[in-house]
Amino acid sequence: MDLLRGHAPCLANPVDARLVRKRILVLGSNFAGFTAALTLKRLLGAAHDVVVVSQNDEFTFTPALVRVLFGLRDRTHLGFAVRPAFDRAGVVFKQMPVTRIELGEKYILTAVGREDYDYLLIATGAVSDFDTVKGLHPKDGHNHSIMTWDEAHRARAAFDELILKPGPVVVGVVQGGWHFSVAYELALGLAGALQRRGLGRRVPLTFVTPEPYLGHFGVDGVNTSRQTIEKLFHEAGIEAIVNCSVKEVAPEQVLLDDGRSLPSAFSLLIPAMRGVDVVRRCRDIVDAHGFVNVDHGYQTLLYQEVFATGSAVATGASSGVPVPRGVPKSGYFAEESARVAAYNIAASINGARHVHLSPIEIDAKGIVDAAIGPDLHVEPKSEPTRALAAVVPGLNGHWANTAYMRYFSKRTKDP
Ligand SMILES: Cc1cc2nc3c(=O)[nH]c(=O)nc-3n(C[C@H](O)[C@H](O)[C@H](O)COP(=O)(O)OP(=O)(O)OC[C@H]3O[C@@H](n4cnc5c(N)ncnc54)[C@H](O)[C@@H]3O)c2cc1C
Repeated sequence: MDLLRGHAPCLANPVDARLVRKRILVLGSNFAGFTAALTLKRLLGAAHDVVVVSQNDEFTFTPALVRVLFGLRDRTHLGFAVRPAFDRAGVVFKQMPVTRIELGEKYILTAVGREDYDYLLIATGAVSDFDTVKGLHPKDGHNHSIMTWDEAHRARAAFDELILKPGPVVVGVVQGGWHFSVAYELALGLAGALQRRGLGRRVPLTFVTPEPYLGHFGVDGVNTSRQTIEKLFHEAGIEAIVNCSVKEVAPEQVLLDDGRSLPSAFSLLIPAMRGVDVVRRCRDIVDAHGFVNVDHGYQTLLYQEVFATGSAVATGASSGVPVPRGVPKSGYFAEESARVAAYNIAASINGARHVHLSPIEIDAKGIVDAAIGPDLHVEPKSEPTRALAAVVPGLNGHWANTAYMRYFSKRTKDP
């Protein structure tokens, strides 16, 4: 991150540090929490304690979940154990769910007791909000999901059944959602997988999205994303419904708010998201969806010692549009906002100035990979300054994604 390059003013002053040893608690250990904890330790050294509390001891590389649907990834390929990297860095790792956060009293509760903090960094991400659409929950509804390993694994089994008993497919994002690039990967990947099995013509594929046009990505498009995706969808025979609001996922059909009914033997609609329950309960720092309100230094407005990063952060939503949609929060944003927050915590401890970097200024780099079949390679940036560096149909995106996944895994495991 350019903003922090060449800056190391936060290294602890050893004299002061001995006098006022601080305890920094990081909640969560994926893109944001993992990055933040290691950055904090690098900036603060042995003078202060960095403790991570997370319910999961595995780093999950979420982009790979799409590939689980197509049988291209199993659980062993999805992530790695975080503890070894934390041990090497001198970060204390405690695997347990956080059950309560007492902001006023500066402690959190877990199943085994209380953890006090001087500084708190919330990096607990976001979870699916299946409640916004009837029948959307994969457990008791009629939709499939790939937002977690278990869901993706079950969706994979259902997709195998579809191959044996072909029928119409509905895929996309429901209103309020933001995982547009994931939905494009799914739609194009499904089209490719069906075509290769000779089922292309027998399985009509409909894509639904709250975006006002294809390739909008929730950021008003990136370069030629609209034309490219429209062309790919046309070639793949995917019918798209934009500005779409889903009313219910029912057995064998998806009902839209405009009264239309889409026949569906296999529905895979990505939900809207919300903050995790324990954070949602901190009512004075979160928005209506349970995301933490922060300034551009990722510090909460009410508690100077409390910061939040990654998908746990409130970045606003679309307003004045026919169908509400979320603002995408990428893994890259999680890492970059985590570095800024870590820097600012270290700066607070050492009396240095904070840095600020808004979500809009953080370049979001991503690869839309249609797995096998028609595919894309995109590198979108954020908001008006976002520019799509490349949209490359062909196998390039697939190999770029595979290479990136290997690079990311190696770099993160062994920072
Ligand atoms: C299917 C899918 C595909 C995606 N593809 C891409 C992509 O291609 N490119 C991209 O940039 N982004 C992608 N994303 C988005 C990306 O996954 C998120 O931006 C990223 O995971 C956010 O990181 P985070 O660390 O903020 O939150 P998360 O990754 O959600 O991590 C949250 C952490 O908090 C912990 N936690 C949660 N609740 C508690 C609790 N109560 N107590 C203790 N710990 C808790 C969890 O165990 C976890 O360690 C994808 C997401 C999905 C679901």
